[in-house]
Amino acid sequence: MPSNQKPRLETQLIHAGRIRTNLHENAEALFLTSGFAYESAETAEAVFLGEIEHYQYSRFANPTVTMLEDRLAAIEGAQACRCTATGMAAVHSAMLSGLKTGDRVVAARALFGSCHWIISNLLPQFGIEPVFVDGADMEAWRAALSQPTAQVLLESPSNPMLDMVDLRAVADLAHAAGAIVIVDNVFATPLLQRPLEFGADVVVYSATKHMDGQGRVLGGAVLGTKQWIEEVFQPYFRNTGPALSPFNAWVILKGLETMALRVAAQSRAALAIAEFLESRPEVSRVWYPTLQSHPQHDLAMRQMSGGGTMVTFELHGGKAAAFRLLNGFRLITISNNLGDTKSLVTHPATTTHMRIGAEERSRLGITDGTVRLSVGLEDVAELLEDITQALVEYSGNWQRRAALI
Ligand SMILES: *Cc1c(COP(=O)(O)O)cnc(C)c1O
Repeated sequence: MPSNQKPRLETQLIHAGRIRTNLHENAEALFLTSGFAYESAETAEAVFLGEIEHYQYSRFANPTVTMLEDRLAAIEGAQACRCTATGMAAVHSAMLSGLKTGDRVVAARALFGSCHWIISNLLPQFGIEPVFVDGADMEAWRAALSQPTAQVLLESPSNPMLDMVDLRAVADLAHAAGAIVIVDNVFATPLLQRPLEFGADVVVYSATKHMDGQGRVLGGAVLGTKQWIEEVFQPYFRNTGPALSPFNAWVILKGLETMALRVAAQSRAALAIAEFLESRPEVSRVWYPTLQSHPQHDLAMRQMSGGGTMVTFELHGGKAAAFRLLNGFRLITISNNLGDTKSLVTHPATTTHMRIGAEERSRLGITDGTVRLSVGLEDVAELLEDITQALVEYSGNWQRRAALI
């Protein structure tokens, strides 16, 4: 590689951030230690005074976690990163570290359930005003951001309806209102959408999803400028303790090495499945960002370099039809995780989005017939076969039932 050229993403996913000890190990070392030793009392004093850089305690920082943080910062194109125990720890600490009583937070309504809870239930307990908007409605963003605001939180594409937010337009409005923009980029991954390039200030991830990608560990990441991480985020992080276990960091480092291959293959399969579902009479609607039929197709093409690994669709026949389909799968597994090598299917209305209530679900477009599919790494033809046999099973029953009514 010419030395004046930055390594490509695929290479950074494997090499960026590596620390090699004097034992010259090839794979990243797992520093499974809670604390670090000092040569002398004077050294310890100097470390605590901030005069010497030295690991102190794994709640603050750990070398295996540092490798993951530096690798994620490199692939995101961010100045700094801190990793957290879960994706929710990332969202929660990214938000709370910078908020105070009297602040106002504007969020796109289509959010992961627990993010929705933080904004609608937790923030008001501290006198922070939450404002929800329809993420696709620029007039609503404009109205909500016409007064001083501390933070904007949004997810794009969203879970489970794959709604998108125009990152550049919202970032411009948010900055004019004095807000920082936090983007939950889990569904897109850093490979398919680069929020910082569209004006976002902070990007958060659940590393549990595509970064591990093999359903093993929980983890999260917060990325932003060096100044924001050091001055706003780090004091909160260090003193409240949402730190990532070095063991989980090590697993996620290994996951990143294959992430580009996995996400590319799973996205190709997801598009093929979305196109197939669009052709089926049992299916009333399909949502996939890069399909022509997606209501925000143009935005997806501008903002994303691929549609991702998730497909959402709606069946004729409501909950009974959806349950019959889920129960009919032989290969695809019922599970509420996503971004896994195994294909996973969820019925949002009765699981991930049960708690938000029927009214909010209907505002988000989640019906009793909505099914969310996280496409894995299995052979695509076999996935299509599994979907076909489950649809035939369900539709046979559905038509029989319809004939009886
Ligand atoms: C899973 C998920 C989270 C939460 O991550 P955890 O690792 O489960 O805590 C947050 N946002 C989105 C979009 C997610 O999919």
